[in-house]
Amino acid sequence: MTERIYNFSAGPAVLPLSVLEAAQGELVSLPNVGMSVMEISHRSKTFDGMIGGAESGLRELLNLPDNYHVLFLQGGASLQFSMVPMNFLPEGGSADYILTGSWGKKAIKEAKREGNVNISFSSQEEGFKRTPRSEELKLDGKAAYVHFTTNETIEGVEFHIEPEVGDVPLFADMSSDILARPVPVEKYALIYAGAQKNIGPSGVTVVILRDDLLRRIPDNLHTMLDFRTHTEAKSLYNTPNTWGIYIINLVCKWLKDKGGLGGMQRENEAKAKLLYDAIDATDFYRGHAEKDSRSLMTVTFRLPSEDLEKQFVKESTAAGLDGLKGHRSVGGLRASIYNAFPKEGVEALVDFMKEFERKNG
Ligand SMILES: *Cc1c(COP(=O)(O)O)cnc(C)c1O
Repeated sequence: MTERIYNFSAGPAVLPLSVLEAAQGELVSLPNVGMSVMEISHRSKTFDGMIGGAESGLRELLNLPDNYHVLFLQGGASLQFSMVPMNFLPEGGSADYILTGSWGKKAIKEAKREGNVNISFSSQEEGFKRTPRSEELKLDGKAAYVHFTTNETIEGVEFHIEPEVGDVPLFADMSSDILARPVPVEKYALIYAGAQKNIGPSGVTVVILRDDLLRRIPDNLHTMLDFRTHTEAKSLYNTPNTWGIYIINLVCKWLKDKGGLGGMQRENEAKAKLLYDAIDATDFYRGHAEKDSRSLMTVTFRLPSEDLEKQFVKESTAAGLDGLKGHRSVGGLRASIYNAFPKEGVEALVDFMKEFERKNG
């Protein structure tokens, strides 16, 4: 099979076709280098240009002030669940965590190994369907930081505005919606994201952190787990994921050609609207998230019965709409429509939904 199908997978997820083609074109031999990107030294001039391009691409797209570092690490967003509290939750201190879904829960589990965690808000009892209203947040003004998950990938619950946390540093897991729209980065002290949803392939994690945070890091950490190791070595303390960083550089260029994050946001909103309008059109489909917490990236919905959901997955897969089965913890369907997911694919899904309802509704 050489035809590409519509890939609704939550991650690793669809990449821009033009990026894949560009990488294919120079996979065996980089121009004027004569070797593959996977065969060159991470200390070479060629790779220097790639990691520099990926960093400046992210800086430009996010409009990042100079006092922020951009790191390309390994271990996924999951390692950040541990590294963040190891570096920034001091002995005897406490951190605030806002809990709106499954990934936030995992972050909390690791933070609790390091110190006190205050759950500032939890929607778990209600089934993770929404983000908090500002008056619901129980913040500890003396917290070392406030952590939240901008888009809960499994539940399809997304913040559309940053929680107000005063002077306490705001930390975010942005794995599934980074680069989907412009964000006021200066409101954040630390952002991390596994690349495989919206930035590139798996195996590389982007961490953005404000320089003043480095002063808080204790001196007893293992070298690889200390953020200062990576800021000082500019992500080259050990061998990084060279291939992943190369692709991130290409994705940043693709995003710039699209008009940057403002242009991307317009496209993402148009795609999400098509799908939510189809969900809201009748009672056959039911969105999981409450309307004002709905995600632009991961659209979760249910059908009248689990049998119909199974049938929907089976028939949509056969129709070339792949990866729509929801996460086992939520059930139902999930359409991940990240930056690189084409509008035509959303239109194809909407057509399929109408036809499925006509036959089974
Ligand atoms: C996928 C995901 C993770 C886990 O990422 P890994 O890179 O697999 O560790 C964490 N947080 C969010 C929000 C995610 O979507």
